[in-house]
Parts: sequence; C-alpha cells; structure tokens
Amino acid sequence: MMIEMQHLDKSYWADKTEVPVLHDICLSVEEGEYVSIMGPSGSGKSTLMNIIGCLDVPSAGSYLLNGESVGEKSDKELSKLRNSTIGFVFQNFNLLPRETALENVALPLLYGGVGRKERTERARQALEDVGLGDRLTFFPTQLSGGQKQRVAIARAMVGKPKLLLADEPTGALDTASGKQIMELFRELNKQGVTIVMITHEPEIAAYADRTLYIRDGQLSEGGGGR
Ligand code: ADP
Ligand code: MG
Repeated sequence: MMIEMQHLDKSYWADKTEVPVLHDICLSVEEGEYVSIMGPSGSGKSTLMNIIGCLDVPSAGSYLLNGESVGEKSDKELSKLRNSTIGFVFQNFNLLPRETALENVALPLLYGGVGRKERTERARQALEDVGLGDRLTFFPTQLSGGQKQRVAIARAMVGKPKLLLADEPTGALDTASGKQIMELFRELNKQGVTIVMITHEPEIAAYADRTLYIRDGQLSEGGGGR
C-alpha cells in the first residue's frame, strides 16, 4: 500500500481556539493507483494533501506512507522520506523566477547531492519527457502557463518518486493546457507512478481511476455532488 491512513484527525490552533479541519479520515491508496480528491473550498483538501506529503503532521490517528509510519519519524527522517518518495505539483507552479527551466528542474537533485554533470543531464531528460526539450534556457516569464506546469512536473519527477501529489494542477490553466497536463499524468501513471490529485473540476477528476469527496472534513467514496 502506498498510502494508509486510519482514523486521522487534524486540527489547527488559532488564538487558543481549536479549529477542527479533518475528522476520522481513513484512506488507502494502492501502489500504481490514480486517485482524485474533490471538495468545496475550505473543506480541508490542501490540509489532507500536506499530511499525505509529510509537510504537516496529523493531530491524531495513524499514517503509513509506503509502509513507513510517518508519526514516529523525526523532521530529518521525514524530509528524507519525502525527497525519496514524493513529487509535488501546485496550482501556481512554484518555479523560481530567476532560474531557467533547466535550473529549476535540476534544483531537487542539487539538494540531493547529485553532481553537476549528472544533474544537468537528468534535468534535460526530464524536460524532454514533458515535451520541453526546446525550452531548456527559458525563464518562467518566457513560458506559457501550461509550459510552466510542465516544467513543474519535470521538477517533481526528476528524482523518480513513486508518488506524485498534485494540488489543483490545472486550476490556473486554460482548458487545452489542462488537458495536456492530464495527458502527462496519465502517461506517468501508466509508467507506474501513483498519483493523488486535488481538483474541483469534475472533468479533471474524471481522469483518475477513483474519485473521493471531502466535505466538512470527512472523506467519502463516490456520490459526488450529493
Ligand atoms: P481547501 O484546500 O479544501 O480549500 P484547506 O485545507 O486549505 O482547504 O483549509 C481547510 C480549513 O482549515 C480552512 O477553514 C482553513 O481556514 C483552515 N486552515 C488551514 N490552514 C490553517 C492554519 N495554518 N491555521 C489555522 N487554520 C487553518
Ligand atoms: Mg486548497
């Protein structure tokens, strides 16, 4: 199992007041699955994604990522697990504006201690894989939204993670670019990458094998909109 959550709760504390966000979440995602998560704004989608991605920790309940118990790990161990297992894609791309496409994609490898020559070669290959082999030296401002998201996908995948987490990956894109991104995701999933994607567009969610709904902090399978 890639993701296994049992009775997970998450609250935030603001001004000494507890703000409950997620309640009794049970979620299992098998290796190789492609799952979408839908829900209204403020329902806790990003909170859940941050916990899945080990960027935040649950208040209660258990979470196993790729068989490893996340709750028992130190920050250092968590960032190691995250770097080796997960790629992230966000709505607003989160590219560094002063770095070229190639440099943006190579960055995770730099943090991973990979040498310069290998970094450049792997980043170039990752950009070629997303159809941007002719845009290596372009800066983010010189790229369209869809191209920026493809750079972000190349950056997410350059370390060959088993799990790709995407929070509204088409939220800032026009329909045609969104479709291209979904085609890339489908290709990655075909190659064995597990994908969990948040969206509030039903047409985008439909690309996944399975759609889950989050409402008032609780997760349910199927039955969207009811
Ligand atoms: P979604 O992604 O579904 O729009 P979020 O997960 O971002 O929702 O937020 C869910 C709820 O948790 C919101 O009511 C939000 O105000 C609250 N929340 C999110 N992050 C924090 C935080 N750091 N501190 C306090 N409340 C938060
Ligand atoms: Mg969100």
